[in-house]
Amino acid sequence: MDKPSLEQYAAEIYTCNRTRCGFCVADCPVYRVKGLEGYASRGKMMIARGLLEGLIEPSEEVEELVEDCLLCGYCQARCALNNLDIFTLLRQRMVEEDLCAPEHREKTVKILEEGHLFQRPSPVRREGTVPLYLGCLYQSRSVEVKTIISVLKRCGIDPLVADEVCCGYIVEATGFRQEFETIQERFAETYDPYADKEILTLCPTCTITLKEQYGLNVKHAIVAVADRIETLSPRQLDLKATYHDPCHLGRMLGIFEEPRTILEALGVELLEMDQNRVFSTCCGGGGGLADTSPELSLEIAKNRIRDALKAGVENVVTVCPTCVPTLLKGASRLANEVGVFVDVLDLWDLLDQALD
Ligand code: SF4
Ligand code: SF4
Repeated sequence: MDKPSLEQYAAEIYTCNRTRCGFCVADCPVYRVKGLEGYASRGKMMIARGLLEGLIEPSEEVEELVEDCLLCGYCQARCALNNLDIFTLLRQRMVEEDLCAPEHREKTVKILEEGHLFQRPSPVRREGTVPLYLGCLYQSRSVEVKTIISVLKRCGIDPLVADEVCCGYIVEATGFRQEFETIQERFAETYDPYADKEILTLCPTCTITLKEQYGLNVKHAIVAVADRIETLSPRQLDLKATYHDPCHLGRMLGIFEEPRTILEALGVELLEMDQNRVFSTCCGGGGGLADTSPELSLEIAKNRIRDALKAGVENVVTVCPTCVPTLLKGASRLANEVGVFVDVLDLWDLLDQALD
C-alpha cells in the first residue's frame, strides 16, 4: 500500500482554501493565544496548498507553524475534512526535510533505544485476570497506579499488568513515520499474548493509539468503572466542579458521559464549561507542543482554567495523566494573576475517596 501523502489530500486542502469558512479558528487553543491565522487550521491548510504547489518551501518558519499545534482535533470537530491527517503529513514533510525540533527527535530516539518515554524507577507488573495497559506516563507514576489498581479491585476487576513497551503515539504525531513503523513492530511482538483479548487502558492517548494504529480491542478503564458504579454505593462527596474532557478520551473515543455518570454517582455538583464534550478545548499538553513551546502550552492551560472560572467553579475534574499536571501548571500560574486557585482533581482520586 502506498504511504499517505499530502497530494492525496489535495481535494480537501483546496476545499478549505476555497471555502475559508473559518469555523475552526476562534476557539483553536493556539489561535486563542497567538491570534494569528497561520496557527489555526485554516492557516495550516494554506501552508499545505503552498507546499503542494511549490509556492512556499519547507523552512524553519513553516516548521514552527506546523509544530505549534496540539493535534487536539477541535478544528476537525468543526470541519468536514481530515484536518489531523493533513497536519500529521505536514509534520512528516518537515521531518523529511530535516526540519524538526530537537526535543521531538530526542524523544523518538529514546523510545527506539529504550522502549519507553519516561524514566521508570521499576516497571510496574502485576499478576491478575484482566489485561491493563498502563502506558509510559503511568509506568513512571507508580503511586498513582497503586491508587487506580486499588479502585479497580474495589470495582471487582483484577488487573493484569504485563511487560509493556511504548505505543509510539508521540513518534507518529511528531512526523517520524518510519521510526513509528519500527516501534509498531516491537509493540506488536511484546503485546501479542493479549492481541485477541479485551484490554483495559488508562491513558486516553494510548487508548486511541492501541485502537486505531494496532487494531486492539481496548476499553478505557473509566468506562468499566462507570458500568459498575451504581452497584457500588459510593460515598457522597461535598464538591462543586466542572469536568474537562480530554481530547483523546472525549472527541476521539466518544467517552463523554461515563465520567459524568461517575461524578453524578459521587454526588458531585457538576457545572459545564461553554466548551464541553465534542467542542471541549485542549489543556495545552497535546501533540508534543509542551516540549517545544512550554510558554505557549502554559498560556493555553491558563485559558482552560479561565473557562472553568467562567463556569463558576474552583475545581476541575479530569481523567488523563497529561491533562491533570498541565492544567495544574496553568491553574498555579493563573492564581498569581487573578488571586483564585482553581484546583485540578483526578477522577481516580475522587473514586479512591468515595469507594469503600
Ligand atoms: S472549518 Fe475546515 S474548511 Fe472551514 S476554514 Fe477551517 S479547516 Fe477550512
Ligand atoms: S488541532 Fe487543535 S491546535 Fe491544531 S489547529 Fe486544530 S484546533 Fe488548533
